[in-house]
Amino acid sequence: MLYGGIEAGGTKMVCAVMDDEGKIIDRVSFPTLGKDETLKNMVDYFKGFEIASLGIASFGPIDLNKSSDKYGCILRTPKEGWENVSFVEPFKELGVPIGIDTDVNGAILGEVVYGSAKGCESAIYITIGTGIGVGLYINGGLAHGLMHPEAGHILMTKHPEDKYDGCCKFHKNCFEGLACGPSIQKRWGKPAVELYNESIVWEIESYYIAQAVADYCLCYSPEKVVLWGGVMHQDGLYDMIREKVADILNGYIPLPKDYIIPPSLGEDTGVIGAALIGKALI
Ligand code: ADP
Ligand code: ZN
Repeated sequence: MLYGGIEAGGTKMVCAVMDDEGKIIDRVSFPTLGKDETLKNMVDYFKGFEIASLGIASFGPIDLNKSSDKYGCILRTPKEGWENVSFVEPFKELGVPIGIDTDVNGAILGEVVYGSAKGCESAIYITIGTGIGVGLYINGGLAHGLMHPEAGHILMTKHPEDKYDGCCKFHKNCFEGLACGPSIQKRWGKPAVELYNESIVWEIESYYIAQAVADYCLCYSPEKVVLWGGVMHQDGLYDMIREKVADILNGYIPLPKDYIIPPSLGEDTGVIGAALIGKALI
């Protein structure tokens, strides 16, 4: 059987078709333009395949409450024209079950089924890029509740040498506000990639990431922490985080080897996870 998947982002929409082995047999990417044009491009793409289900892994926050009249809608986004737009309605004409979740919940699902967290009962995926998102797979399922976890916005204790207030417009000194890629640029006046030689930049960055990872370990007890996003391309950052997490936890929770790791599905993580969200419905 074939399963459709959409990794919905503010810049592009990656659509793909996955087979029963988790292999991506076709993929295409549409720029995220006006909603009508972009949604039509995606519906037309999937009409070209005999898919059994469709899964959408989207930037958020999204309404995942099935009894809400905004189910499947993006609730808040700076992307003009996309607020309160349903991601589910336009695809109903395909006549297959449709599942939707956050992009990061999709990513951890992909990694648990086929990737570096394979076989885990509980694992988390953290992406540190333009924003910070956290996907949670707990006791064999993706975590939901009132909405879905937004653990990129937990509040942080400031690094003693950090003079920057944070850039989250909702809560300033949250993890995203202090550690996302744009916060690095605003704090130091240069893009993160140009600061690779400045040790204080990465001391502060790893301090925040480690704080968040330690908090997630204490709250959710994941068996693996999969860490990714543009900022994680900085050399040596994984090891700095591993050391600091061990320091913070201070032996209270013994961490296994290969605990904080990159994903292993590469650029397919998002669409594989998305397709699995749909596959889970059949
Ligand atoms: P998005 O979150 O929009 O999908 P990415 O995950 O690619 O995008 O993250 C983009 C962020 O990553 C930018 O803020 C950029 O400054 C940062 N970044 C890109 N390359 C590097 C690098 N080599 N080292 C540190 N940060 C980087
Ligand atoms: Zn925030």
